[in-house]
This record gives sequence, C-alpha cells and structure tokens, in this order.
Amino acid sequence: MFEPEEIRKDFPILQRKIGGKEIVYLDSGATSQKPKQVIEAISKYYETNNANVHRGAHTLGDESTQLLEEARETIAKWIGGKSEEVIFVRNTTEAINLVAYGWGLDNLKKDDVILTTEMEHHSNIVPWQEVARRTGAKVEMVKVTSEGLLDQDNYKDKLKLKPKLVAMVQVSNALGTINPIVEMTKQAHKIGALVLVDGAQAVPHMKVDVQKIGCDWYAFSGHKMLGPMGIGVLWGKKEILNKMSPFLTGGGMISEVYVDHSTWTELPEKFEAGTPNVAGAVGLVSAIEYLDRLGIENVREHDKWLTVYGLQLIAGVEGVEILGPRDAELRSGSISFTYTGVHAHDVATVLDSQGVMVRSGYHCTMPLHNKLGVVASVRVSFNVYTTKNDIDRLVEALLEVKKIFGK
Ligand code: PLP
Repeated sequence: MFEPEEIRKDFPILQRKIGGKEIVYLDSGATSQKPKQVIEAISKYYETNNANVHRGAHTLGDESTQLLEEARETIAKWIGGKSEEVIFVRNTTEAINLVAYGWGLDNLKKDDVILTTEMEHHSNIVPWQEVARRTGAKVEMVKVTSEGLLDQDNYKDKLKLKPKLVAMVQVSNALGTINPIVEMTKQAHKIGALVLVDGAQAVPHMKVDVQKIGCDWYAFSGHKMLGPMGIGVLWGKKEILNKMSPFLTGGGMISEVYVDHSTWTELPEKFEAGTPNVAGAVGLVSAIEYLDRLGIENVREHDKWLTVYGLQLIAGVEGVEILGPRDAELRSGSISFTYTGVHAHDVATVLDSQGVMVRSGYHCTMPLHNKLGVVASVRVSFNVYTTKNDIDRLVEALLEVKKIFGK
C-alpha cells in the first residue's frame, strides 16, 4: 500500500487553499487531478520535441512520431492489446461514437437489437439511439436492481432477443457498481453479439486486461486516470477494426486520394484523421508510469479501503441514503447518496462553502436516476490522492447541511 498523504504532495493543485482551507477534492470521477510528473512531461514535450507527426521529414517530426508510437505501445501493453489496436481519440465519448458510426451504421439494420443497460453513462446510450434512428435498429436496456446491480436474469432474457451488440459499462460512474464483465461478455459472445465495454471508470482504479475480459472494443479517457484532458483510447480487436469504416476522414488516414475517391491507410491511422494529440499521449504515458509505480493492485486496495470507510461514515449521517451496493467488493471509486429533504445541488453548495468539492445532479445517468426514482444525487469520488481526512472533512461538512437546512 502507499501513503495517500505523501501522494498528495505530487499534485500541485491540492496544495491550493480556498477560503483558507485545504481543498478536499471528491470529484475525481468527473476528472482526476494531475501529478506534477504528468504536467512536466507535457511541458517537456512542447519545450523539446513539438512538431507534427509523419509529415515533417525532419528531426523534430521524427521525435514527435516516435513519442506517439511509443505511447501507443505503452498503452497497448498496459491493457493487454497490440499497439495497432490502440486508436487515439479525445475521450470515451468519442471512442464509443467511433464504434457507433464506424461499425453500427454499416452492420445494423431494421429491427436489429442493440443491448445496453440502465446504468450507462449517456455516452453509451445516446450514440446508440442515434445509430438506431438511422438504421431502424432498436435499443434495449438491461434492468438495474434496487440494490444497484445489473439484473442478471433480465440480461439472460434480453440475450434471447439476439442483440447484434452489447454495449455496457464496467464500473458505473453513478453507483460505483463493478459489473461481472467477463461473464457477461462470455454470455453475449455465445449468442453471437459483439461486446463494447465502457471502461472510463474502471481504468483509473483497477487492472484492466482486454484479453481477460474478452471484449471486442474497450473505451476509456486519459483525464480520469491522472492523465491530461483531450486524450482517450479505443482499443478494438484487429480483425474487427480492419473491417470497420473510418469515423472521421481527412488528412493522416488516407492511402491515396483521387478526384473521385480515396483509399484508407492501415490501422491504427485509419481511425486517426487530422493532427494527433501527441502531448496528450505523452502525458498519458506519464500517468500510466505513475500508476505503475504505485502498483495498480495497491490503487484498487486504497480505493476499496476508502469505499469501506466512506460507506460507513456517510451512511451514518442522519438523512443520508446511499445508492448502489453496500459491499465494497462490488464497487469502486465513488459513493452517491441523497439527503432527505435537501436537493443535491444545495448539498453540494454547502459542501463547497466548506472547501469540499463533489458532483451533484444525475451524473449523465438520467435513465438510472429515473429508474431509482431519484431526481438528483450527490456523488463523492476518489483517486490515489484521496485521504481518510478528506472523508472526515466531507462528513463534517454534511453536518453543516443539517445546521443550515435544519433537516
Ligand atoms: N462513461 C463513463 C462511465 C463515465 O464516467 C464518463 C465520464 O464521466 C464517460 C463515459 C464519458 O467520458 P468522457 O467525458 O471523458 O468522454
């Protein structure tokens, strides 16, 4: 295990004081803070290597290209894929859209079923609704139980509809639920469906191996795992990516361009039109190195420990109702709750006045909140720099809510 109090020292933003108080940042699920190593790696790239890739037949262009390709290799190794299967995108949302438009439009037709779940982030719902609208396919959703788990009986029933695709989240951003993704992927493959996993909230907190999961595509964002904003990854199986159409077209992804038609280059560039975010890729490598130094198993242990501690303390506050499973083994990274009689936005405002930063609303999971009959909730989410003291400060601040609203 590592000492989060020590880790905090690597994060310049956490040294800031607001209203004379140390920042308690409990919104890492939205975006994580960045260690100085990541910030320095990005600065160093711009100070020493910056040039466009491939195009310049000069030293800086070569260095920049090499850094991008090394980043691809590091990421591939980290998730258990091949480097040509790693496609750089801006974020998870873009990765899912790439599959929706690059695979969905060509492979789905009227009455085909796309199976997703009630606990998805809007990023794994709306692109499928759009593809369904254009192809005549239908979107079905696996139900969530009142405990905040995916209803496995309902999943089996939905698989009887023979979906062409199962698109599901590994770790719910709203409930923290860890889904049994390996088993669910196996079941989907048995009926011939392809599987896309939204790993946005999994990669920051646990070891992810796409081979072990067995999925066909895996999507994640760099900015939630200590990396910079603007860089994300779509991993896909080579044979599937090879058959897909490009999502974005233009420079950098073509083989030949004629007046009346064009041909595409090989993977991975086929999916990377335009100038890539090399600095972002370099920053993401630095984030992976940082997590590797801590040990991803230790990151998971730290996260589990915080979840146990947080669940116990937060649930003890009068008026608070925790959403999602109570067993820390089944959850990761975040705890969402409601406060009886006080709107989540009001709770968040009071917490902010105490230097405690949380997310309030429906966290881009409106169908899930509707299903749970909750208008909005408060979410506290962790990362490697989150300490026991952060949770204690949260609980103290929650008592302020009681004082102010008298609830
Ligand atoms: N999926 C999940 C589970 C998320 O938590 C998020 C972001 O919160 C996303 C997708 C979208 O990520 P991004 O905004 O980086 O595209």
